[in-house]
Amino acid sequence: MSEPTIFHKIIAGEISSDKVFETEEVLGFKDIHPKAPTHVLFIAKKEEDFVDSIINLTEETAHVPGKLVRAAQEFAAQKGIEGYKLTFHCGKGGGQEVFYLHLHLMSQETYAE
Ligand code: 5GP
Repeated sequence: MSEPTIFHKIIAGEISSDKVFETEEVLGFKDIHPKAPTHVLFIAKKEEDFVDSIINLTEETAHVPGKLVRAAQEFAAQKGIEGYKLTFHCGKGGGQEVFYLHLHLMSQETYAE
């Protein structure tokens, strides 16, 4: 495998993060530089679900974005967030900086911690 990314380190617990959602398969944590009042990133935790970017999605990993979307939907429902944007930055030209597939949830709404 290539160099571990910052998100590998977050999953391994080597770097701390502000976790707001977790299941066996997906972790949701606050973006360190929020671009909306609520800005959460969702990543798949299992090694076999690792994809660096939507750009390199394959038939075998096509289910991963769906898991992230379901987690984001579940998180929003839990927190009572009614409206939000979901974004994948795809490749350097698409603004992607961290090459560990992640879904941005951004909302103008906030929630009780
Ligand atoms: P990208 O542009 O790759 O889609 O988004 C990467 C996101 O990760 C950025 O919004 C950035 O603020 C966030 N980020 C980068 N490093 C860290 C970190 O160490 N911790 C957290 N919580 N977010 C990070």
